[in-house]
Amino acid sequence: EESLDVDRLRSEFPILEREVGDGQRVIYLDNAATSQTPDRVVDAMSDYYRGTNANVHRGIHHLSQESSVSYEEAHDRLAAFVGASGGRSEMVFTKNTTEGLNLVAYAWGLRELGPGDEVVLSEMEHHSALVTWQQIANRTGADVKFIGIDDEGRLDMDHAAELVTDDTEMVSVTHVSNTLGTINPIADLADLAHDHDSFVFVDGAQAVPHQSVDVEALDVDFYAFSGHKMCGPTGIGGLYGKEDLLATMEPFMYGGGMVRKVAFDRTTWAEVPEKFEAGTPPIAEAVGLAEAADYLDDVGLERIERHERDLVEYAMGRMAEFDDIEVYGPPADERAGLVSFNLEGVHAHDLASIMNDHAVAIRPGDHCTQPLHDVLGTAASARASFYLYNTEAEVDALIDAIDDARQLFG
Ligand code: PMP
Repeated sequence: EESLDVDRLRSEFPILEREVGDGQRVIYLDNAATSQTPDRVVDAMSDYYRGTNANVHRGIHHLSQESSVSYEEAHDRLAAFVGASGGRSEMVFTKNTTEGLNLVAYAWGLRELGPGDEVVLSEMEHHSALVTWQQIANRTGADVKFIGIDDEGRLDMDHAAELVTDDTEMVSVTHVSNTLGTINPIADLADLAHDHDSFVFVDGAQAVPHQSVDVEALDVDFYAFSGHKMCGPTGIGGLYGKEDLLATMEPFMYGGGMVRKVAFDRTTWAEVPEKFEAGTPPIAEAVGLAEAADYLDDVGLERIERHERDLVEYAMGRMAEFDDIEVYGPPADERAGLVSFNLEGVHAHDLASIMNDHAVAIRPGDHCTQPLHDVLGTAASARASFYLYNTEAEVDALIDAIDDARQLFG
């Protein structure tokens, strides 16, 4: 298969031509935080506001009908995008991955968890999963356990097999680590969990934008992702759940649009997804998200994945030329397109600041994985994260900026 025509792709992202600071073109390597948005996604949202804008929930007038259809079809589109055959009855729109986690933790966890029950996470969970399950466990009396990692940042599957028992009610693991780049063996974890009648929640924030995901092949129960990391807008994300699970779960939020029949003393719920989408939803964002899914499919997720793999291999190869750069996580051929590292003697924040002087946008800090950084033995790291529009020349700029930091601090 052909590789990506990156020059052509870049022309659809005018922001990549932007000059920052003293007139240098921005080098955007912070895609794990938020990706850039191609023209056609911006246009789809702009067209919606210019031509259709109206509330959903099937008003009688033309604009509301159109808006409702677009909004509902966007659910089907995103369900198909992650391999869910049930369409909108398996796809709930949320604000982001964090809300997907909270929705399940509150709606399912508060009712199903109790003393003696266990939730199994991994040491590489993002705070959005870690804090959420920790707090729901505190409220319900359940325990949280953490699957450890090996020296190269892979999940310790022997440890997983020890931790997951008949007391386990939920296994919640990230598909791809936003700090280590590790790609976790989700299908194996799902088998392990199901062998013990536990459910599986997968945080797909760093997977859905970068590889072809098939929730049915993985056989997971819940799977959450964010629009703003997959060339889509902020303010919207998706939560896949198996149809029978979502159908029997109680709502997480109450209000208009999520009810069937309301009396002064009781209410019955609408079908999925409405049951979980109280209030006026992010309609333009749903239109943009569906367009982003089309965009990624048109470019080709396999090609995107390979392009990012090539970039991360190139970046790690260049970093390996220096013995004062410590890289965290597995070898390049086992990871997604991001790399977290430290330069000896330079704090990650100072490093990022010098990079910024070179117009190189990376992220310093704990990347919302403080406990993982404790395991790694550092408070912070610098993270460069790639996407379909990045180039080897941009990696070279990153390496040059590191060299500049080395000169300044050395
Ligand atoms: N999980 C992972 C692995 C992430 O990388 C992120 C975003 N940094 C999140 C969850 C949270 O995503 P959001 O802020 O869009 O809810």
